[in-house]
Amino acid sequence: MAEEKSKKGRTGGPKTRCSGAWTEAKFKSFIKGNLRRTTQKWAPIGQALKAARTRRGFYHCAGCEQEVPNSVAVEGSRRRQKNVHVDHINPVIDPAVGWTTWDDCINRMFSEIDNLQVLCGDCHTVKTNEEKQVAKERRAQEKLNAK
Ligand SMILES: [Zn+2]
Repeated sequence: MAEEKSKKGRTGGPKTRCSGAWTEAKFKSFIKGNLRRTTQKWAPIGQALKAARTRRGFYHCAGCEQEVPNSVAVEGSRRRQKNVHVDHINPVIDPAVGWTTWDDCINRMFSEIDNLQVLCGDCHTVKTNEEKQVAKERRAQEKLNAK
């Protein structure tokens, strides 16, 4: 069977899910996305937000240690952008390890409050980009090792 390449180039593979319409990677990402959405109702997430709230509409960012507004204006738009993110200190998927099991994924996604911190948009972007870089280097190394 021909390996299909996705936009990101790493979600290919045979279409074994959803009556042959979806690859395993797409299925995994669909389930992960839905699980992630339910974390909105996970009490420790709300507790982390509440603990970081300094006053109405403002939060303490654990990264830059500043008081930040919960939303910021977007240039050229009337919409405001979310500026407060509840971050998993140890990421849901360890970028240095990659995917392990659903048990690990679920246990990390539904972390207790000691693994959660509130970050402003900028700090969250920096951390996310660092994690993406680690994952990118790991995948490059895995590719080399597979040869
Ligand atoms: Zn910050």
